[in-house]
Amino acid sequence: MRIGHGYDVHRLVPERRLVLCGEVMSYEQGLLGHSDADVAVHALMDAILGALALGDIGHLFPDSDPKYKGADSMKLLAKVIGIMCGNGYALGNADITIIAEKPKLAPYIEKMRVNLANAFNCDISRISVKATTEEGLGLGIAGIGANAVVLLDEIEK
Ligand code: MG
Repeated sequence: MRIGHGYDVHRLVPERRLVLCGEVMSYEQGLLGHSDADVAVHALMDAILGALALGDIGHLFPDSDPKYKGADSMKLLAKVIGIMCGNGYALGNADITIIAEKPKLAPYIEKMRVNLANAFNCDISRISVKATTEEGLGLGIAGIGANAVVLLDEIEK
């Protein structure tokens, strides 16, 4: 088995959709980024690539490439899952922590887990999505961060 970790932060700005784990939230601000800025999926992709020692998403999907402008991060995740499978690994489990003072994410957690389980075509019990605040001591309301840890199992040949 292999373990990987990913971390990402994006700034909250007006007039952007807020998308986390493929779920569009009802909030007056969204995350700034070249793609849809789904910070949780970015951390998850980096965790998978980290487990495989294949670099990071900035290397795979450069933000200098207009092809990725406004990209749906769930589609990028599908590509990373393809790379994972191509390298002979399957998801053991993923544990994602989203760091946000606002909005309250509890109503969306189960939908986010379903979206990711569908992307991996795995049982939802392999996907954990948690949310926390930093008690106003860290990012504050300026942005949203995410940590992801994955365990990948080698597919038996
Ligand atoms: Mg990012």
